[in-house]
Amino acid sequence: MNRDNTEICPCCNSEYIKDLPADAYFYDCCEDCSFWIEKLYLPEQYQNKQVIVNGIHYLISNSSIKGYAGAKFKIKFFDGRVIKTSNLWQQGRIPQHFRSILKDNAVFIKTRVAPTYAYDDIPF
Ligand SMILES: [Zn+2]
Repeated sequence: MNRDNTEICPCCNSEYIKDLPADAYFYDCCEDCSFWIEKLYLPEQYQNKQVIVNGIHYLISNSSIKGYAGAKFKIKFFDGRVIKTSNLWQQGRIPQHFRSILKDNAVFIKTRVAPTYAYDDIPF
């Protein structure tokens, strides 16, 4: 194995192989941490569409393919907004070391609880 591109992630202190294009990494953090750092800097069209409930990260989408097969969710944000969506996508459980900066911001209202995908089953 070529170990020349081995790095230590400054976020989680894990050793990782840096083998993706440079723009895949934020602040030299590993892929997993970079994925979550990206959620701190979402493009403007996703502002107010970021939903974090019980440490699980979701985005409300406008995509033609609907998240959760178009299941309807009613979401109450801690800022007072209440929205309904039939296009919610889950990105996964936020690692513990990101929970203080990616905090819960909403709850689901009287809907079924969104299922949690296993890591390998995240639909995109
Ligand atoms: Zn990391």
